[in-house]
Amino acid sequence: MGSFTTSFPESPLGEFKPLDPEEFRKRAHQTVDFIADYYNSIESYPVLSQVEPGYLRNQLSQTAPYNPEPFEAVLKDVQKDIIPGMTHWLSPNFFAYFPATVSTAAFLGEMLCTSFNSVGFNWLASPAATELEIVVMDWLAEMLKLPKSFMFSGTGGGVLQGTTSEAILCTIVAARDRALERIGKENISKLVVYGSDQTHSTYAKACKIAGILPCNIRAIATTADAAFALSPSLVREAIEADVAAGLVPIYLCATVGTTSTTAVDPLTALAEVANSFDVWLHVDGAYAGSACICPEFRSYLDGIERADSLSLSPHKWFLTFLDCCCLWVKQPSLLLKALSTDPEYLKNKLSESNNVVDYKDWQVGTGRKFRALRLWLVLRCYGVANLQSHIRTDVGMANMFEGFVKADPRFEIVTPRRFSLVCFRFNPGGAWSEPDSIELLNRKLLERVNSTGKVYMTHSKVGGVYLLRFAVGATLTQERHVMAAWDLIKSVADKIIGEIN
Ligand SMILES: *Cc1c(COP(=O)(O)O)cnc(C)c1O
Repeated sequence: MGSFTTSFPESPLGEFKPLDPEEFRKRAHQTVDFIADYYNSIESYPVLSQVEPGYLRNQLSQTAPYNPEPFEAVLKDVQKDIIPGMTHWLSPNFFAYFPATVSTAAFLGEMLCTSFNSVGFNWLASPAATELEIVVMDWLAEMLKLPKSFMFSGTGGGVLQGTTSEAILCTIVAARDRALERIGKENISKLVVYGSDQTHSTYAKACKIAGILPCNIRAIATTADAAFALSPSLVREAIEADVAAGLVPIYLCATVGTTSTTAVDPLTALAEVANSFDVWLHVDGAYAGSACICPEFRSYLDGIERADSLSLSPHKWFLTFLDCCCLWVKQPSLLLKALSTDPEYLKNKLSESNNVVDYKDWQVGTGRKFRALRLWLVLRCYGVANLQSHIRTDVGMANMFEGFVKADPRFEIVTPRRFSLVCFRFNPGGAWSEPDSIELLNRKLLERVNSTGKVYMTHSKVGGVYLLRFAVGATLTQERHVMAAWDLIKSVADKIIGEIN
């Protein structure tokens, strides 16, 4: 057996063994106990961290220790110094942003992934990593009732990326190169891309990285009347105007479940437009895509058969831990054309035979983790039945919260609830009827609620309306947490009104 022992003759400390299996067993057990205790006591911490910027630098030593410190001392400092500076995303009272859901199965998958530390840039470097990824991407595609054109068992395929940003970047680059091959590289400044004013901010970033001029990134206006969904006729008008101006439309990003309000863009009608101009249609379902494993939500993906790619992030609503974003593409060859590399040091017969998937050619980086293990454990240990019920439970709790809001005449729902996000605001009328004063009231309400440490919510603004976002779905959240949050929101609102009167 090879050993990982290294010794430093000049060191007074003797042998240095960074990976001793028995030492690992002992420390890992201690850490697992620490984590389970953390999960048990998570409700005792303020959800939103109460520390001030710079708090940690003042607390920790200015330099790294020259001599080793005992592991117990480090764990103690995690408890003392790190935990107070955490915003507890896994708290059952976390209703901010979108939840980052986790599970025992995914954690165990992550442990296995980390333990192998295989770097699966090509098939040969980690056959199981590549093949398992192919299997789980097809499994999940099947669960979402995606057409065969997105599956390895059909003519497409899927890949695990870290985040939506990377998924979008890779597909834009593929669409860009397809267009440049036709019109010539010197015309890159003519390429135009489309989204709505509700498209995630990461979209414009990815476009810029891909070399699209910022002035050619169209953010088409949405309206409250259309529940902030992207209008196919406005997209068509914008594309026609750009074509008339000599520009070249290449890419349209539609969203199923926008970040501010979970608006759903109409895929079938958008695909109609995109297809007729040979524009790449990408569907971003980062959060809400996961819900489409339930038949009652699947209709939001209707039209997907006419799109070119779809991404969704299981690290949001699919119990899978950061980071994990699924990307399916209809024409993997376009991704490969744009992203493949072929250095001497990675050459091998199998890759040359084109009979294997080399995932380095489907992503930005070369090295990659065995992320599929996490998803595989979630799918196997829970099964479709439990995963559907997980989605439905969250939606049910959001529905309950929506009911509370609707039953109180001083509050109102701002945009229709589609999944497990409720967008609402305090609107008591009377002296607070001006838009500015309603906004002020809601800003105050949010700040006060969050400062209690008992609940964490966030806000957004759509169509000029400031709204509070109550996103249900942290893994540990139960009905009682949602009820307590509503009671808190109401009582803080009462207090604010009382103070102003
Ligand atoms: C959260 C979100 C993103 C960015 O998420 P990733 O963590 O990069 O996957 C992109 N689009 C939408 C609609 C989102 O909600």
